Amino acid sequence: MSLEGVAEHCYNITQSYLDLANQTSIVDETKEAIKLTRDYLLKDIFKRWDPFSGQISFSYNGGKDCQVLLIVYLSCLWEFFKESIRISQFSLKFQKFPLEYLPTVYIDQAETFQTLEDFIELTKNRYFLSLYESPRNQTSMPQAFRNYLDLNENTEAIVIGIRHTDPYGEKLKCIERTDSNWPDFIRLQPLLHWKLANVWSLLLYSGEELCGLYEYGFTSIGGVNTTRPNPFLKKGPGEDNGEAITNHFSWEISNAYGKAQEDSSVPVTRVSDADLDIIQKTDDSAYYPGWFLIEDSKERAGRS
Ligand code: ATP
Repeated sequence: MSLEGVAEHCYNITQSYLDLANQTSIVDETKEAIKLTRDYLLKDIFKRWDPFSGQISFSYNGGKDCQVLLIVYLSCLWEFFKESIRISQFSLKFQKFPLEYLPTVYIDQAETFQTLEDFIELTKNRYFLSLYESPRNQTSMPQAFRNYLDLNENTEAIVIGIRHTDPYGEKLKCIERTDSNWPDFIRLQPLLHWKLANVWSLLLYSGEELCGLYEYGFTSIGGVNTTRPNPFLKKGPGEDNGEAITNHFSWEISNAYGKAQEDSSVPVTRVSDADLDIIQKTDDSAYYPGWFLIEDSKERAGRS
């Protein structure tokens, strides 16, 4: 595989998702969300910043939001490449994909779950990321980005997987400059309009491996000392919190892209023993997987 190969694979995933007919209202809504993100990237962002020249970097921390955005971003990169050579006299097989690795930045700020660290390492290889990792805990987020920009002077814009329902996300726009207390760059935020259900739907349909913590009831992953499984997903007495806990994505899971036959398992990475100890030390209850939760307002209930 190569970046070109995985970009084409991501294109095939999103295209196949967009071609789905007569599924759930979540699928219909997610298709609209994908189309808008695709328009932002292809019709606006890639016209202003060349994704093949190092002007754009991708901020990545292994979370579900940046993973789903990465899939759509790579899909668009493939489409942009195909479009750019459409008028060429040579056919696709004689054209070289202009990037070998995707410029990516990860700020290793809080104490991170080992499982997430492992997932970042795995996906760095899976998606051909040229991953800058800031030294752990050494500095503030703005300073860490400043250090990254000092080392990567071509970078003008950074893709961020923030959504309107995230803290401080409500009023953001797809393209905007950083605030004055941050190093100067353009924030590219083409996932803002996605709901939690849209993220799970495409991610589970993609058949791509997810970070194993999500299977243990995590719905958003912060630091080791500040994140626990989401209390709204706890099994057992009082589990319903007023509503039945159900899996809204059985169809996506059973019909995931590239699956040979119906199979109800979700590909996830192994949770490290150390993380299992941490999770079970304070609470040994069982939890439904993170994708059983679709209410945006409850997504961060496991984070303090
Ligand atoms: P989850 O909420 O499930 O943990 P996530 O980490 O992708 O998923 P957020 O925590 O809401 O989502 O972060 C929003 C976005 O900000 C990420 O998708 C990523 O693009 C960027 N981001 C957040 N933290 C970091 C970090 N430490 N390094 C690089 N980028 C980051």
